[in-house]
Amino acid sequence: VGEEDAQYLVSLIRSVPNFPKEGILFRDFMPVFADARALQILMRALEAALPVPADDIDAVAGLEARGFLFGPALAAHLGKGFVAVRKAGKLPPETVSESYSLEYGEATIEVESDAIKPGERVLIVDDLIATGGSAKAARQLVTACGGTVAGFSFVMELEGLDGIAELGDYPTSSLLRMP
Ligand code: AMP
Repeated sequence: VGEEDAQYLVSLIRSVPNFPKEGILFRDFMPVFADARALQILMRALEAALPVPADDIDAVAGLEARGFLFGPALAAHLGKGFVAVRKAGKLPPETVSESYSLEYGEATIEVESDAIKPGERVLIVDDLIATGGSAKAARQLVTACGGTVAGFSFVMELEGLDGIAELGDYPTSSLLRMP
């Protein structure tokens, strides 16, 4: 995408201090989804930045909740299926689960066990990578289902946390790097 389109996209990402708790600078993407032009730019930008050629991807897996907002749109844009990686307890059995630690406590995510066919090459997407904990757990899930992780696409990467380094040796792209 051109510089003007890129700037337009960035201008619609809102940064909200101290949300959801003190000390967090929350990056809010909702205005991007609400805007017809920005949503199209986002799709084109994600496609242009794909970490592997689209032909090497069979399905897009998005993380709840904001990976659900653009993951299916990107999947449709690329002509792929979409796999929902949900928080525990929302999907009916059979599911495959993976737990990982958060700053305080633990989180568990799940996919339906037949959502990924053995050997399918899956692109994992989320709006933002911070520590990389969620994306890494999604990687384990895809692998546990017999799929192959084709790569990771993020809209934004938080600088300094080095989340992408946590993911291991996979093709990865992020559109924006923010402090
Ligand atoms: P992590 O597992 O640490 O990489 O955290 C990534 C997940 O937390 C993503 O699903 C993000 O949507 C969310 N997240 C983490 N930090 C922020 C932030 N500053 N603003 C918005 N979302 C965030």
